[in-house]
Amino acid sequence: MRKFLVILCCMFVVSPLRGATLINDTETERLLADLVSPIASAANISPARLKIHIVHDDDFNAFVSGGEDIYIYTGLLTQIKSPAALQAVVAHELGHTIGGHMAQMADRMAAEMRRALLIQALGIGLMAASGEPSLGAGVLAGAGGVATQGMLSFSRDEERMADNLGLDLMRRAGQNPDAFVVVFEQMRDITGAAETKINPNRINHPLTAERLKNVREYIAAHPGKYNSADTKYGKKYELVRAKLVGYLDSPSRIADLYPASDTSDAALYARAISDMRGGNLDASIRQTQELTRRQPKNAYFYELLGDAEFAAGNYAAAVAAYDNALKFGDAAPQIQTALALVLTDRAAAGDNDRARELCLRANLTSPSPLTYWVLARAYGDDGRAHWAMAEYYAMMGNDKKARAYAKKAQKSLPHDSPEFIKSGDILNKK
Ligand SMILES: [Zn+2]
Repeated sequence: MRKFLVILCCMFVVSPLRGATLINDTETERLLADLVSPIASAANISPARLKIHIVHDDDFNAFVSGGEDIYIYTGLLTQIKSPAALQAVVAHELGHTIGGHMAQMADRMAAEMRRALLIQALGIGLMAASGEPSLGAGVLAGAGGVATQGMLSFSRDEERMADNLGLDLMRRAGQNPDAFVVVFEQMRDITGAAETKINPNRINHPLTAERLKNVREYIAAHPGKYNSADTKYGKKYELVRAKLVGYLDSPSRIADLYPASDTSDAALYARAISDMRGGNLDASIRQTQELTRRQPKNAYFYELLGDAEFAAGNYAAAVAAYDNALKFGDAAPQIQTALALVLTDRAAAGDNDRARELCLRANLTSPSPLTYWVLARAYGDDGRAHWAMAEYYAMMGNDKKARAYAKKAQKSLPHDSPEFIKSGDILNKK
């Protein structure tokens, strides 16, 4: 069980956003980056500067902050009908950025109300903005009850403008703007019952029906030849959705979504993850091995196999699986860290050396607290372990402990060593 907890730690990171939990997962992050990049490029945002954050929250929601940080909710990922529809959501949110709505919004919002921002986006917050106290109250309570009505909504005009700018972005990216229709039809299904009770004259957000009409008119006025992300990414998206459901939902809901009769890769994936969570490790390993037979170059199936084998205490099999995951997954830092963790746990001859190497490489491209924590384990009694712990605490925002470890590191390390100097950087940081 302890092993499984560590695996979960690899995936879930509590974020500075109040109360929200962010999810780190290479497979999900890479797919989202592929989907969002063309839309971001069309908005003149370099894909290299783009940061995608996955928020563990059931809301059908997404938002953009500062133009380069895109927050996508697991509720959106697991519910939205297609990858193209997800692109449309992001295009709409970037429309708010291009339209300058975020700056005006920032003026209206106090910094501590950032959490409230999480529930607006795409107009699901319309219930909060509707002037219907009974409807708004529930949504506000869900946001921690901090926001007042006017603060968390874009205006009706801003929503329409974001839709139009988003449609432009889709077109410029060569993606079919029809995906907007898919999103609004789905939103109408989700919010439709509530909307019929709302008086349109008292509402800031355009109703979904009104937005749907606007979008259809735009599409009719802009015929053309487009690509659809559904063709290219549909299969990968199914797997990501299955993974999130497998990790985040209850066994009964997983069984509803993927009944035993469903023998697709996605269904097997969701069940293998659910079985691992439930401690049915043999079943989990068997199904994951079947997945690797069906897709022998899928890095993430090997990653799961590594997790499950490790949870079962099968070190050699876990190491072999992670090695394959690295081979087919372009040396993903998160998988390097997972392998390093297993190696430090096994601690056979040479294991800690290799773990150190893996952690240092992972931190070159994508430093993470967990990687520093594993690195400290790999250093063992070496004074550099104190430096690694100092970095770990610095990343976790615990300056007191970071400084204490940096001091310890400096006591035991040669003054000209890189770790001594890096410890000094932590001590000199204000
Ligand atoms: Zn919006």
